[in-house]
Amino acid sequence: MKTFQPPRRVLLGPGPSDVSNRVLLAAARPTIGHLDPAFIGLMDEIRAALSRLFRAPHHACLPLPGPGTAGMEAAIMNLLEPGQAAVIAINGVFGRRMAEMAERAGAEVIRVEHAMGEPVDPARVEAALWARGAKVLGFVHAETSTGVASDPAPLCALAREHGALSIVDCVTSLGGIPVEGAAWDADVLYSGTQKCLSAPPGLAPFALGPRAREAVAARKTKARTWLYDFDLLMGYWDGGNGRAYHHTAPINALYSLHEALVALEEEGLEAAFARHRRVHDGLVAGAEAMGLRFPVGPGARLPQLNVIEVPAGVDEAKARALMLERFGVEIGGGLADWAGRVWRVGLMGASATPTNVRLLLEALAGALNAQGKAVDVQAALDAAETRLVS
Ligand SMILES: *Cc1c(COP(=O)(O)O)cnc(C)c1O
Repeated sequence: MKTFQPPRRVLLGPGPSDVSNRVLLAAARPTIGHLDPAFIGLMDEIRAALSRLFRAPHHACLPLPGPGTAGMEAAIMNLLEPGQAAVIAINGVFGRRMAEMAERAGAEVIRVEHAMGEPVDPARVEAALWARGAKVLGFVHAETSTGVASDPAPLCALAREHGALSIVDCVTSLGGIPVEGAAWDADVLYSGTQKCLSAPPGLAPFALGPRAREAVAARKTKARTWLYDFDLLMGYWDGGNGRAYHHTAPINALYSLHEALVALEEEGLEAAFARHRRVHDGLVAGAEAMGLRFPVGPGARLPQLNVIEVPAGVDEAKARALMLERFGVEIGGGLADWAGRVWRVGLMGASATPTNVRLLLEALAGALNAQGKAVDVQAALDAAETRLVS
């Protein structure tokens, strides 16, 4: 054994995204006890910042220990009891994961399946909600497997009309595109730290609204999770100086999240959204100038997660390997039906910079040229530049 020294990479995949030095260094500050009075101040600031970020002033917000999937698990396990019905919209890998979790909670799951690349269709969801009184409607705001945005407003409204609680997966959306917990009247929202927040992975920002809190309080059976049991968690996070030990919070990871939230507020949320939009426009212009195609229509495209078709005759894994080796650039491959057919380019959080778009275009051109697909990198860079500078 000796000290592990990770290589320097530029993370332009589906997550994690690049973590800035200030956020990395925050984690190197002294570890203190999780019941230390100084730590309580940190917890309170993080909770308040999360409620501003989710734009959900009346939700109980806290960062759960665990990755984005922990947020999903907490939402499903706290809201659903055995035998209850859950409508889960599936338009990619993460909606499917939610449906599998709901089954493990003992729920009767009604899947509303969509083709990869389509946004969730409210009309189809409504038909499923009519079919049986559902307790929960779950869906993904920003489907990272396909780069597709769905509109949560009509979906949350449908849930409300049918007396169901809405669960909105905001893992890839939070910090990259607007998340409007209160305006959507969403019941539960959750996210992860390693996508558009650009903090190290391992925490799941979580927001539980008033109706959901009532539903949790009215459960007849205990949640099938101890770690993520919402009432137990709130005894720890909400207890002020009388906080009860529940688990040991990941103290240093919380320093990093706090610093990432400070950085985001310094930039301003709207400015961050505009930056994600600008670098996306630059990437699209540059990649299209190289003759590459985007399978998702412009109306449903996520700026922070760009799906690009692999041209015929190109070995996509080989291209990614070359980009990593020669340019230090990581991008993602396709998942499920799209495995081998697309690349996924994340421009999330601290990774969403004009410099990274230029580097990505050079790396992509290098990888294509290496496989005999002649592309004009200068034309691509020039096309991107018209969108990157504004
Ligand atoms: C990444 C992601 C998750 C899971 O997050 P992990 O941190 O990998 O557990 C869930 N939903 C969506 C939409 C994601 O992009």
